Amino acid sequence: MGAQLIDGKEVAKSIRKSLKPRIAALADKGVVPGLAAVLVGENPASVTYVNSKARACDKLGLYSEVIRKPETLPQTDLVEIVRSLNENPKIHGILVQSPLPEHLDELAVTLTIAPDKDVDGFHPYNVGMMFIGRPNLLPATPHGIIKLLEYYQIDPAGRQVVIVGRSNIVGKPLAALLMQKSKMANATVTVAHSRSRNLADITRRAEILVAAVGRPQTIDGDMVSEGVVIIDVGVNRVDDPDREKGYRLVGDVDFESCLEKASYITPVPGGVGPITIAMLLSNTVTAAELSAKRRT
Ligand code: NDP
Repeated sequence: MGAQLIDGKEVAKSIRKSLKPRIAALADKGVVPGLAAVLVGENPASVTYVNSKARACDKLGLYSEVIRKPETLPQTDLVEIVRSLNENPKIHGILVQSPLPEHLDELAVTLTIAPDKDVDGFHPYNVGMMFIGRPNLLPATPHGIIKLLEYYQIDPAGRQVVIVGRSNIVGKPLAALLMQKSKMANATVTVAHSRSRNLADITRRAEILVAAVGRPQTIDGDMVSEGVVIIDVGVNRVDDPDREKGYRLVGDVDFESCLEKASYITPVPGGVGPITIAMLLSNTVTAAELSAKRRT
């Protein structure tokens, strides 16, 4: 028996559809949700991400601005840009595309973003609210993973979830969300990382396995149990002379060897990626609603 594919595009479409009446209700109040993306430098992956976020906004009728600055932008100027976006009533969501050039202090920039405009959900205020189970704006990828599970009626309650990777943007917040005493949570969560011993022993215990490592083929079929649900967050470029671009995208999971054992699996691309952008749009609409509520 092969695994059922988790179709991130389909789930993203249903999320975008669910946003339409909320956008219409805001329009009745004269509010168009607005997202500003700040892009420093010309990292090709960042340029692609920012362009697709702006395109996704346009398609849904949201306002978007991309602020492009050279690699040499001083920290004080970046902080000033964020401060002015905080004050800009047309902008409800602000994101500063990472990675930033080395001379820039990412945490200081995140701390400058008004928490109610922090659509990436990276501000320590929002991280703290998430941890104590009082979510404000949630980080897009981990929240999107919960939405993928929900769409396929895979309730993590009571299950062994293993997350490989402990970054501040994926592994840690996902662990925090899944361990909450709430709907689509209540999981028993294990977080593994590069210092974990006997990784395969840990991953074989998983009923739901999330790979957020950033290294191709870290998880193969021998490392998982029959019936596991696999969420592959990784996006890695591997050389492929047969492709026009000279590379193709693969996840952190060896898809072929896991396919037969898993009950559900996300493909790369087409799994977690599309849902991340949909959740960013969702956060922008939520931020606009919060702002409209404060004004009434
Ligand atoms: P980071 O590099 O920040 O974190 C990687 C994590 O993997 C670290 O915790 C690291 O451990 C751990 N790790 C590295 N090697 C191993 C190993 N051999 N065994 C076990 N653990 C290991 O990555 P991110 O979380 O930012 O991203 C992970 C992947 O997800 C990337 O491919 C990224 O491109 C992708 N991504 C995709 C998104 C999407 O929308 N589809 C969104 C965000 C990320 P340690 O902490 O010890 O160093």
